Amino acid sequence: ARVHGPDYLAGLNTEQRAAVEATEGPVLVLAGAGTGKTRVLTTRLAHILATGRAKPWELLVVTFTNKAAREMRERITAIIGPQAEGLRWLGTFHSVAAQVLRRHAELVGLKSNFTILDTDDQERLIKQVLEVENVDAKRWTPKTLAGLIDHWKNRGWTPDRLPANEGREFAAGKGQALYRLYQERLRVLNACDFGDLLLHNLTIFMSQPEVLAEFHRRFRYILVDEYQDTNVAQYLWLRLLGQASQNVCCVGDDDQSIYGWRGAEVDNILRFERDFPGATVVRLERNYRSTSHILAAASGLISANKGRLGKTLWTEQNGGEKVIVRGVWDGEAESRLIADEIERAKKGSTDKDPRKYRDMAILVRASFQMRAFEERFVLLSIPYTVVGGPRFFERAEIRDAHAYLRLIQSPDDDLAFERIVNTPKRGIGDTTVQKLLQIARLSGVPVMTAAREVVLTDELAARTRTALANFIRDLDRWRGQAETLHHARLTEQVLEESGYTDALRLDKTPTAQTRLENLKELVQSMGNFDTLQAYLEHVSLVMDMDRGPQADAVQIMTLHAAKGLEFPLVFLPGWEEGVFPSQRSMDESGEKGLEEERRLGYVGITRAREEARISFVANRMVYGRWTSQLPSRFVDELPLANVEASSETGYYGGGPGMQQQHGSSWDATPAFGSGYDSPGWQRAQARGYQGSHPGRQQVIQGEGRLVAESSAASDFKRGDRVFHQKFGYGQVKGVDGNKLTVAFEKAGDKKVIDSFVEKG
Ligand code: ATP
Ligand code: MG
Repeated sequence: ARVHGPDYLAGLNTEQRAAVEATEGPVLVLAGAGTGKTRVLTTRLAHILATGRAKPWELLVVTFTNKAAREMRERITAIIGPQAEGLRWLGTFHSVAAQVLRRHAELVGLKSNFTILDTDDQERLIKQVLEVENVDAKRWTPKTLAGLIDHWKNRGWTPDRLPANEGREFAAGKGQALYRLYQERLRVLNACDFGDLLLHNLTIFMSQPEVLAEFHRRFRYILVDEYQDTNVAQYLWLRLLGQASQNVCCVGDDDQSIYGWRGAEVDNILRFERDFPGATVVRLERNYRSTSHILAAASGLISANKGRLGKTLWTEQNGGEKVIVRGVWDGEAESRLIADEIERAKKGSTDKDPRKYRDMAILVRASFQMRAFEERFVLLSIPYTVVGGPRFFERAEIRDAHAYLRLIQSPDDDLAFERIVNTPKRGIGDTTVQKLLQIARLSGVPVMTAAREVVLTDELAARTRTALANFIRDLDRWRGQAETLHHARLTEQVLEESGYTDALRLDKTPTAQTRLENLKELVQSMGNFDTLQAYLEHVSLVMDMDRGPQADAVQIMTLHAAKGLEFPLVFLPGWEEGVFPSQRSMDESGEKGLEEERRLGYVGITRAREEARISFVANRMVYGRWTSQLPSRFVDELPLANVEASSETGYYGGGPGMQQQHGSSWDATPAFGSGYDSPGWQRAQARGYQGSHPGRQQVIQGEGRLVAESSAASDFKRGDRVFHQKFGYGQVKGVDGNKLTVAFEKAGDKKVIDSFVEKG
């Protein structure tokens, strides 16, 4: 007989319903992708409210992203109505911990209006600490220490609780002391960093039992999504808060733990059963999201992992398309292929309904992969959004590189000048830049022109003057080289010689690596344009595309950002060794890194409801070199019964002339043929994945130009008495354009800019 209950319970299966209705006591829902974990959590929340077990503000609900929190709030509003607005404690770990801290900041020596530093501020502060302590910041970079401190905070270690062997290797054993000093500086500034939010909460809860008791009374029920990706500090936080009521419900999937590199601990799942004895453990096995081929392909892939809790998954959605896998010639061919398929899916056909753009997603392993798709989409006017990050051309490092090129191309580009004159840091501070801007404004010339004048004078301190002179000299040299050098090669050289790439190389954080990859990708993509000017024009075009939120747009994002989401059609490009799995995971000893990558693959495939399409290429520009790519080992691990090689790929290979590569002056020559001859490709061929044919190489010549500059004439003449802000009164001894030589009464002979003196 059918069990009757409120509407929101209808449609849940027995296990789901059990998880929803077991409101009292600890509950762990451990289940594979698409089994309705998030749905269970949302329904449980609605159930608790609808049955009057608690008020909305007595619920603590933690989701992985702010987006997920918003979506959950919407779904609950749909079930219980405007009452959902009272869900004051629904958010990410960070946002909820920040709220707690605002109320009790004084207990950790902060005021309730404390500021939360971003990573930039954090590093600047660390740098100051290193300077005070006479630590060589070149050898022991602020980034490295920031990374260490983050790691410690993720584990719940304050300077006092730090194990003795931690931080030994940093600055000859000074790691711990520096951590302590940094925390002291933060306190003085009434600030904290991201890691502190949780850490300060822990400190407060552990040292102030009455405060903890207050939150015990407040949070009658605790609900946590994506539990597998919590780190130690977050786990301890949950355990402290859940200790009294024991009403803690966590949902997660060990196979989707993909944030190990950020301190997440799958072990938290095992700990839960230990720390919350008598927990109800619910397993969900029916997948409601994907068709059977998709599910089987994902399950087959993840079964290669050893460290698993293990589970079975089934679906009633039998049939459907197999997961399509194909190999193409290179990255451009891959983006062409996918863009064409998107257009076809959008149109629909006799046996397929048209799809909306927003029902299609491209999930990449690394952000550098996005560029090719974005360009293609701009060209074809396919609307797209990049979820969870700026679009390729909006990234800071790409804008920096463009600013250099713009300044080489056009010395009058003041915005470009301002952007990079001190990027990377070369000792030309804000004050100097402001001064240059002022001079430029007063004399109505470009900043670059003003800078040229200023370096001939004593307006700047000697060190700054030298730095600025070097910067100008470099730019002039590059401008000269632009005459003969291909612009891709030029860009590479500019990034090297300016110290830009070096600064990133010294940078030990994971984002630095990503930014380097993005720059390599940028250099590679420039080969498709005849001239630097043509390239820069193209960029402005891409940047100019409507930026407002697009209701119907293809979703581009990283696999990490796709967690918890679902789409009818999912593209998974770049399944090649070194891209996915990442080189970093392959270089690591042991299987840990690779297993995490495999879980990422599992997350990727299981985002698809109806169609999943995997692709890999034979040649890719990686780290500025053409390399022959091997199909990802993950391709080999997909069960043959659930995959299918596309029969259409030959069409996409690109005929003669479709592939444009730049000149042979640098190592840009693609390894034609060799990719296809490799054992990996032969294996792929045996499986029927290979489809396209090499195109022909086309050499493009670079183009550049020299720009001449002149300086304006001066209003001053020999003998004029003048006043200068810095040097005081003096008499003009010589005039050279807008530069004056002045005999100052106190400062002696100086060269100054005329707009900086008044007649005295
Ligand atoms: P992930 O591990 O990817 O986060 P999940 O386990 O959280 O997945 P949900 O996103 O909650 O899964 O659900 C997957 C899909 O299945 C959603 O579209 C959801 O609406 C649907 N679904 C879940 N349970 C049921 C059910 N009992 N009946 C019908 N559809 C369901
Ligand atoms: Mg979910």
